[in-house]
Amino acid sequence: EVDWFSLASILFLLMFAPLIVYYFIMSCDQYQCSLTDPLIDLLMGNKHLSDIWNKTPTLTYAAAGIYIVWVAFQVILYVFVPDFCHKFLPGYVGGVQEGAVTPAGVVNKYEINGLQAWIITHVLWFANAYYFHYFSPTIIFDNWIPLLWCANILGYVVSTFAMIKGYFFPTNAKDCKFTGNFFYDYMMGIEFNPRIGNWFDFKLFFNGRPGIVAWTLINLSYAAKQQELYGQVTNSMILVNVLQGIYVLDFFWNEAWYLKTIDICHDHFGWYLGWGDCVWLPYLYTLQGLYLVYHPVQLCTAHAIGILMLGLIGYYIFRMTNHQKDLFRRTNGNCKIWGKKPQYIECSYMSVDGTKYYSKLMTSGFWGWARHFNYTGDLMGSLAYCLTCGFEHILPYFYIVYMTILLTHRCIRDEHRCFSKYGKDWKRYTAAVPYRLIPGVF
Ligand code: NDP
Repeated sequence: EVDWFSLASILFLLMFAPLIVYYFIMSCDQYQCSLTDPLIDLLMGNKHLSDIWNKTPTLTYAAAGIYIVWVAFQVILYVFVPDFCHKFLPGYVGGVQEGAVTPAGVVNKYEINGLQAWIITHVLWFANAYYFHYFSPTIIFDNWIPLLWCANILGYVVSTFAMIKGYFFPTNAKDCKFTGNFFYDYMMGIEFNPRIGNWFDFKLFFNGRPGIVAWTLINLSYAAKQQELYGQVTNSMILVNVLQGIYVLDFFWNEAWYLKTIDICHDHFGWYLGWGDCVWLPYLYTLQGLYLVYHPVQLCTAHAIGILMLGLIGYYIFRMTNHQKDLFRRTNGNCKIWGKKPQYIECSYMSVDGTKYYSKLMTSGFWGWARHFNYTGDLMGSLAYCLTCGFEHILPYFYIVYMTILLTHRCIRDEHRCFSKYGKDWKRYTAAVPYRLIPGVF
């Protein structure tokens, strides 16, 4: 059943999320990244909405061409180029991998080749920037708003297609979820793992590519724009490129692990993932770099080192916490966490067909400190990105505000789900590990 709060939030997001993205990008384009000036202009009557709209770049053939080539290229890399990285990169898990058991008891196979797609795309990008010069490395920045329209079109097309597919030709009918509420189903998705053919998995493709492969290219395009405008790239821009680059590379290095995260394991594929991956992620996760094009901040060395340390420590916590759970689950608890055999709580649950399964919830390592310490590390990293931009404007701080809301909401959503799944075993776990994000505080 869909409660009123969820429905109200969904309607709000469906109506306003595209406007929020537009507002942020327009503020940079027309108001030097000030979030308040457009509002003041409108309230004081200095400008009408139509003035702002008329100044907004429209969809162009060039942008449509770039976007189609980009998405088609990522589809080709995803579907037609089997992974070869796992054959020569020690420790990297790629190639054909299995996902988690779905509620209907299905285990999907995935071709894990995101790292390869990322490497090929970036090698071509650098080859063009330094050797071929077919297009300018500032191409993304230069077409940023026209590309926004293309991303929106794809986001809506794919979400609508996913909904129709869920009704008429689902990949696995037993894993579909119908609430009877059109808006909820459109937003949160009907199908669990929609696919075309055996290998084109919507969730894995749209979550990782084109959005996350693009993330580092977008940042590189911003750095190139700084170079073009000011003759140099600031240390803050380098920090954003490096810290976010580590995060993106980590994602692709651990793409097989990603199959076990909430996005793939529990979320259905609807507008939230489809539109979110096409528009929200590439446009709002890259705001710091965009801001630094308009405000080239040069940090003092101490400030830069402080931010770098915060970002790296946050990354370390994020990665180690995720790694500890992954190792624990893969070995069924037969491993060492911080040099000792991990402690855990035994739990059981039923799948929809009534089969009983057993699982374990670890209470050692970072998982003994807090129930979602991986989110805490993620938040520290997110704060570091924002701090690179100084304190003149609030726009670059949107990311930490958004991530705090997203991850706190995710905590609550996940715990609600875990409680429904494990019942009293989950209660035993929360008694053993009482805090969610910050030990002793929350
Ligand atoms: P988690 O990796 O924390 O997975 C939660 C699941 O892990 C639970 O549903 C439960 O699943 C299992 N679990 C919970 N506690 C334990 C335990 N003590 N021992 C063993 N298993 C446990 O969450 P996410 O998938 O949301 O996040 C993965 C990473 O991705 C995080 O680091 C997060 O920060 C990051 N992330 C980043 C986002 C971004 O936009 N940048 C967005 C979302 C996530 P089960 O049913 O199997 O028991």
